[in-house]
Amino acid sequence: VYILGIETSCDETAASVVKNGSEIISNVVASQIESQKRFGGVVPEIASRHHVEEITLVIEKALQDAELAPEELDAVAVTEGPGLVGALLVGINAAKAFAFANSLPIIGVHHIAGHIYANQLMQPMEFPLLALIVSGGHTEMVIMKDHGSFELIGETRDDAAGEAYDKVARVLGLPYPGGPHVDQLALASTSAVEFPIAWLEKDSYDFSFSGLKSSVINYKHNLEQRGETLDAEAVAAGFQKSVVEVLTVKAVKAAKEYNVKQVIAAGGVAANKGLRSSLEVAFAQEDIPFSVPPISLCTDNAAMIAAAGTQMFLSGVRSELSMNGRPGMQLTSWNE
Ligand code: ATP
Ligand code: MG
Ligand code: FE
Repeated sequence: VYILGIETSCDETAASVVKNGSEIISNVVASQIESQKRFGGVVPEIASRHHVEEITLVIEKALQDAELAPEELDAVAVTEGPGLVGALLVGINAAKAFAFANSLPIIGVHHIAGHIYANQLMQPMEFPLLALIVSGGHTEMVIMKDHGSFELIGETRDDAAGEAYDKVARVLGLPYPGGPHVDQLALASTSAVEFPIAWLEKDSYDFSFSGLKSSVINYKHNLEQRGETLDAEAVAAGFQKSVVEVLTVKAVKAAKEYNVKQVIAAGGVAANKGLRSSLEVAFAQEDIPFSVPPISLCTDNAAMIAAAGTQMFLSGVRSELSMNGRPGMQLTSWNE
């Protein structure tokens, strides 16, 4: 089965061909990071315009790299939501046109299902599994009893982990997107400022990062008022320590409670070196198999959308050609 995946939910224009849901045949990502940098974040109108400029070239390149003709494909999978509506629509309209012109079915994929299925490009999933999703807009834990079955057991009550990273980076004067820069500073540091951790109620698998973010901002203001200089490395290290600890502890607790066979991490923040090694160590100690995709498959890409789309295709899921962008789309099971 060959599936063409298309992803345009945020600031990456991406297309990819995946074979049998597990083998990347081609994977093209055009990032807008350089042009969004000077605004310190993603400007929706600019994102949409970039997607329009790039999408045709990116899809053509994905097919060229794959050395496949459109008629050799089985379906087109495209991110239906969540994301910026103007950005989503560019990918969806390109997918519709391509599917219509080549008489292919079209499948709308939830962006987070895509992040989760990036792991399927590395090794087959073993159920039940726990997925720890940490990205720019999401921080949640999901139990999967089978393909296409998602049970949300906890989520952030305020900021997503990636959002907190990007805000802290801004406070520290680092360029957008800040996650990788904070990660680098944290790893280079020999000391760490102590910041609080929001554990929430004893049995809760929810997260909260806005208090931690405020602590970092207050810490900086207090130093400034006293005329002292800030040790950015120690702040980054302290912030990262708090984020990594709460994610690791709650993921281990959930993995044990739900007796899972495998734990996977997904989303842009799963590219974080501190988090990856903390999770690896913790799950090795518990003797629970843990996996996380390579860094390039943690951040937004279309191979993950094709991988999830393949599983949906095999389950008989199809979307209408009238499909629309769904900015607030919920992750629902397609296989119950
Ligand atoms: P969502 O997937 O929730 O819709 P998104 O697609 O914008 O949001 P991703 O592309 O999955 O998010 O991830 C981007 C986020 O990951 C950004 O917040 C970025 O700072 C963060 N990130 C990337 N690399 C790292 C890293 N090494 N350490 C921490 N954060 C990182
Ligand atoms: Mg992104
Ligand atoms: Fe994402």
